[in-house]
Amino acid sequence: MPSHSSFTSAFTRRGLIVAGAAAAVAAPWRVWAQARCQLGGRTLAVGAPNGLAIGWQSYPRTLALAPGEVVLTLDDGPLPGQTDRVLDALRLYGAPATFFLIGRNAAANPHLVRRMAAERHTVAHHTMTHPWTLRQRSFEAGVRDIEDGIRAVQAAQGVTGSAVATPFFRYPGFADTERLNDWLAAKGMVTFGSDLWGSDWTPMSPERQLSLLMGRLKRAGRGIILLHDVVGQTASMFPAFLQALCAGGYRVVGLTPGPSAPQTIEAGAGWRSHTERIIAGRG
Ligand SMILES: [Zn+2]
Repeated sequence: MPSHSSFTSAFTRRGLIVAGAAAAVAAPWRVWAQARCQLGGRTLAVGAPNGLAIGWQSYPRTLALAPGEVVLTLDDGPLPGQTDRVLDALRLYGAPATFFLIGRNAAANPHLVRRMAAERHTVAHHTMTHPWTLRQRSFEAGVRDIEDGIRAVQAAQGVTGSAVATPFFRYPGFADTERLNDWLAAKGMVTFGSDLWGSDWTPMSPERQLSLLMGRLKRAGRGIILLHDVVGQTASMFPAFLQALCAGGYRVVGLTPGPSAPQTIEAGAGWRSHTERIIAGRG
């Protein structure tokens, strides 16, 4: 498994190579200016004293983001070789992300979990084993998988104590159940769906992935974006994606746990959940 430091030096080497190659064709200040484009916007405190589930694709409300504001969420990591590349790009552009981690991946790669926290990303939860889906498990088995996942992620991160430091959760495949929703609400957990995504479980080139995602974002104008840092095409696309966000004037909003519910936008009368279609399409 590559160490953190070997990836850092690889990153530095790549940076030097890029800068050197670019200097031959363009003034060095252009490269420097590009690297300095910073995407970080405000940090939004999100709490759920009475439970909260957000994201248009599964729930009839979402975060009240301003036009041009996006929240970057990345699922299923961490995975060496892919997550590192996403973190490198986020660092270059000063963009915060929220990672929904699978517990067993966190346990296998604690250095990446600690790097996320050290670089001020939000470390959130996505079960221990990523069951497909929790709707096919008993309530008790679902609770166990969610709790095991939280424990594994917190242990990898070095969080001590049994309290949930970041009470943000996303169901695998968005496949929620009423009983688990009630249980999460009673624990003060925020359940995240998403507003749009890049369909990055479908194999395609990074270029195609970028154009699909930016087209969807242009139509939505803002929103909680779901991608998978474990997917190679997404990790490969990430620097160009962040550059496209810069060029489009978007700002990336960070999330942090807060004591009260955030402002939300409620769906209109025609809203419908896409969860059933999502599970059928990806199962
Ligand atoms: Zn997932």
